[in-house]
Amino acid sequence: VVEVHTEKGGVGLKITCDVILDLIPLVKDGVASEDSNALVLEHLESCDNCKEEFYDYKAVTTAEELDDKKIITQIKKSLFIIGLALIAIGAFTGIALTNSMGMFYNLILMPLIGAISYKALKRNWYFTPISIFVLSYVWMFVGAVIEGGFIVEALYYPVYISVLYAFLVVLGVGITVLLNFAFRKECKL
Ligand SMILES: [Zn+2]
Repeated sequence: VVEVHTEKGGVGLKITCDVILDLIPLVKDGVASEDSNALVLEHLESCDNCKEEFYDYKAVTTAEELDDKKIITQIKKSLFIIGLALIAIGAFTGIALTNSMGMFYNLILMPLIGAISYKALKRNWYFTPISIFVLSYVWMFVGAVIEGGFIVEALYYPVYISVLYAFLVVLGVGITVLLNFAFRKECKL
């Protein structure tokens, strides 16, 4: 870096306006190294052409596009939070339904939770079926022990329904993946 800085030394590369123009977008987007920042700012003090480019770049790209990016990121963030809330509400509702006839609603509710998980969590969707399995197992095990005291059946009977719930969630993810795939194919044609 020092070599590059000292143009007098003759060893280093000469910092031309082309180099500075290449660096300006990086500096403006805040991804340049500190040395690059210093280099560009130093050059701008003595070069009006590059100075103009520097301020033009800000006018076109940073102001509007970065605002758009920020808005999109914010929308994505709030959708993610809404998704998480829906997953949590759905999971607790579904598991609470287990002890009543209403548990059959889970045939629809659990796949829906899976679909939302895939949309909100992307690659981490598998956290949902795992969490639902654990929550459902604990809920039924504790319920069974409170109701009838500890018996061996209390340990394994919750497994069946918990596996079923996790499977329904995975099914919902699978359907969503297939629908996405089909939709994408249609768009290409
Ligand atoms: Zn210049």
